[in-house]
Amino acid sequence: MAAAVKTDVTRDVTRIERIGAHSHIRGLGLDDSLEARAVSQGMVGQATARKAAGVILSMIREGQIAGRAILIAGQPGTGKTAIAMGMAQALGTDTPFTTIAASEIFSLEMNKTEALTQAFRRSIGVRIKEETEIIEGEVVEIEIDRPAAGSSKGAAKTGKLTLKTTEMETVYDLGQKMIDSLTKEKAQAGDVITIDKATGRIAVLGRSFTRSRDYDAMGPNTKFVQTPEGELQKRKEVVHVVSLHEIDVINSRQQGFLALFAGDTGEIKAEVRDQIDQKVAEWREEGKAEIVPGVLFIDEVHMLDIECFSYLNRALESDLAPVLVVATNRGITRIRGTNYKSPHGIPIDLLDRLLIISTVPYTEKEIKHILKIRCEEEDVEMGDDALTLLTKIGIETSLRYAIQLIIAAALVCAKRKGVEVEVEDVKKVYTLFVDVKRSTQFLIEYQSEFMF
Ligand code: ATP
Repeated sequence: MAAAVKTDVTRDVTRIERIGAHSHIRGLGLDDSLEARAVSQGMVGQATARKAAGVILSMIREGQIAGRAILIAGQPGTGKTAIAMGMAQALGTDTPFTTIAASEIFSLEMNKTEALTQAFRRSIGVRIKEETEIIEGEVVEIEIDRPAAGSSKGAAKTGKLTLKTTEMETVYDLGQKMIDSLTKEKAQAGDVITIDKATGRIAVLGRSFTRSRDYDAMGPNTKFVQTPEGELQKRKEVVHVVSLHEIDVINSRQQGFLALFAGDTGEIKAEVRDQIDQKVAEWREEGKAEIVPGVLFIDEVHMLDIECFSYLNRALESDLAPVLVVATNRGITRIRGTNYKSPHGIPIDLLDRLLIISTVPYTEKEIKHILKIRCEEEDVEMGDDALTLLTKIGIETSLRYAIQLIIAAALVCAKRKGVEVEVEDVKKVYTLFVDVKRSTQFLIEYQSEFMF
């Protein structure tokens, strides 16, 4: 049991690290005609692949992707995960994004289709809407739409009011504040503020107004609700997005959501999932919840076996499927679990469903730019010479290795009380931490001493 917990915790840590590595990516960086901007939303270069991903996003938005998936083929370190992440971000900031390496499926202490099911359900969000009473002192933003007709001088046609609820003791006060903010005049005795309790619409009739005007005080998340006792309550709608997997876990164990923190989610019974699906369908019908299809990224997809591939085929047919993006750097290779070879080690029936995007290696300029963005993301000041050296290291070794050196070099710099990472700091960490090429070279050279 202890081993199971450990495995899962390790897996979750990898997940956090990977997402952290792409935290600078905020979208695909495309313009309105889906052309890739050279540098935008944290994305650099890889223009064709980004544009292709953008076309796929339009298909997703138009609901034309059902039953299909995306394959990103390209050498390691060419930003395949970054593009998948960009797609998720472009779909909306609360779009779930899950990334797994196909080999993880076989190392988890659960059967492989269960592991895949969990990955799928982690990638499907449920947006749940709830209404809560506004708490005293909470800051509430209220949008005010003022009808254009009869606007008086100095009055904003639309505006935003930020009020603390302590300042909003009564809705009458709120009306006064609105007059103040819209007309720059104080509300005066004799002004009559009427509130339609059902809709929350506030009308102001008064000395300073020639006719009644409606101010729509219904902020995007704020409304006034009449309680059964006739009291007018200020409420706001809160929205949470949770994944289907999280709902599964909470409902499948006695310890409920604590299992999510321990990472010990174990296998989940099919009946539990059926019940959850039913419940979510009910919430959707009642308008309490919406489905947010996320993006599931499976790296090294050639490591999946034939059973996993047939699972994917079936799962893609479900109306609750996320956008599946798979990646590989293999050409023709054997399909695991069979003696057949096929392009990318993927069976023909799945290949048929794939839209294929390819990525290309980066130029020196692009690598330098990505490193610069990562320095900003990690709050590290780096001199241009040091950045140039780090770029050379990135070309010789890998982009990922060069990125890892940023924070290490910053620590060395801080230790010598420097303000900006310099060439010497980069050199130092380059000698302290070896990259894969040097580490294997070292082992080859000393092989005879290691192997008695
Ligand atoms: P792959 O899956 O192809 O190995 P990856 O996206 O997982 O690629 P790397 O390509 O090794 O990882 O990327 C290393 C780092 O560089 C990551 O932090 C990634 O976000 C970033 N990166 C990669 N491509 C781009 C890009 N086009 N624009 C901005 N950042 C990028």
